[in-house]
Amino acid sequence: MLYSNYFPKTQKQDPTSAEAVNHKYLVRAGFIDQLMSGSWTLLPFGQRVIQKINQIIREELNQTGALEMALPLLHPKEIWARSGRWDDLKVDEIMYKLKDKNDREYCLSFTHEEIVMDLLGKHNLSYKDLPIKLYQFSTKFRNELRAKSGIMRGREFLMKDLYSAHTSEEDMLKYYEEVKKSYLEIFKRIGLDVYVVEAAGGVFTDRNTHEFQVFNPAGEDTIYYCENGDFAENEEIYDPKLTKCPVCGAEIKTIKSTEVGNIFPLGTKYSQKMEVYYKDENGENQPIWFASYGIGPTRVMGILVEVFHDDKGIIWPEAVAPFKVHLVGLDLADQAIKSKVEKTYKLLQVEGIEVLYDDRQDISPGEKFADADLIGLPYRVVISKRTGDKLEVKRRDKKDTEFLNFEQLLKRI
Ligand code: ATP
Ligand code: MG
Repeated sequence: MLYSNYFPKTQKQDPTSAEAVNHKYLVRAGFIDQLMSGSWTLLPFGQRVIQKINQIIREELNQTGALEMALPLLHPKEIWARSGRWDDLKVDEIMYKLKDKNDREYCLSFTHEEIVMDLLGKHNLSYKDLPIKLYQFSTKFRNELRAKSGIMRGREFLMKDLYSAHTSEEDMLKYYEEVKKSYLEIFKRIGLDVYVVEAAGGVFTDRNTHEFQVFNPAGEDTIYYCENGDFAENEEIYDPKLTKCPVCGAEIKTIKSTEVGNIFPLGTKYSQKMEVYYKDENGENQPIWFASYGIGPTRVMGILVEVFHDDKGIIWPEAVAPFKVHLVGLDLADQAIKSKVEKTYKLLQVEGIEVLYDDRQDISPGEKFADADLIGLPYRVVISKRTGDKLEVKRRDKKDTEFLNFEQLLKRI
């Protein structure tokens, strides 16, 4: 990809009113743009990061036997009324409701439990059809009160949501544990350290749920945890009388944190309220055991910047970087240098390496280096009059540079 063709170019100034690091760097480096509070455009760089995050999620969930689909985002009131959530006051705080010209009522999806239940209900399910595991990547709308954590809290944001339907609590919990493991693998591959934390189910369920939390100073959640990893609870359920870990007796500490995923063993509540059943071996109606599982890819992109940055810009983990190599061509007015850079650019592409080539002629070396640091690709490769027949290679997360030939560079990356 030629940076001269790329849109948009970097910005030197922080966006006005930006507080969060992810907001500042993602906007300045050209990954996202703010339409209004809580509403973000994914620009080409941002879209590439999200696609990589999504692909990791997809590969891991497919391994659990889950099937990808896509559900509508505009929902009729009637389906939400069946679960009782249309009139739930807590839900009312976050759900966008609207009317059409004929006064029919709708909402914009903030989650999809009701819609999946309704879908299951149309298929006259028997015990032989279960379990069913369906997921999607889709936009969610929530009327969030506070929307100041950059892309980590949108009023319109991306969620991967998975729903599973089972004949028994045992089968539901078995798959729930499988998804928990799958989530740990997903976050490991993305490059994030996550802690599994117990939390209340909010507007989804009375049962306890599990959150996947990334400890970081900019986090909006407070976690009470034991350093030995035996205990971790979200502040919202946490019993303040508890000062020692109930498992190992160690002191309980608190830390700021961001939730990147949440899994909910919902039970039979939705099935019973919406009267969606399966037929057992005797042809009798039985309630479906239901669970849901969310990850917010756009929030994940934000937290990656919160965790991986320095005072110059972003430091992307390799697995989700929009490109692997930032090829910086200097002294491009010199034809010999220019053709050497172009050859390297082509050869890297032949090797299947994603390269961003800064081919701009009217930009100073200092500005090109500053842009490379801000954008944060894992490897910077410089070719100039100074580099002779070598390539100057620097990892974004290291200070030192090395002079390598092409073969050595390939080995390195
Ligand atoms: P929070 O407590 O941070 O508001 P939540 O518990 O309401 O989040 P869930 O309903 O559990 O969120 O949604 C599943 C996932 O979707 C979250 O773990 C998070 O990654 C993502 N998510 C939720 N709300 C937002 C938001 N407003 N903006 C971006 N991502 C979000
Ligand atoms: Mg949650």
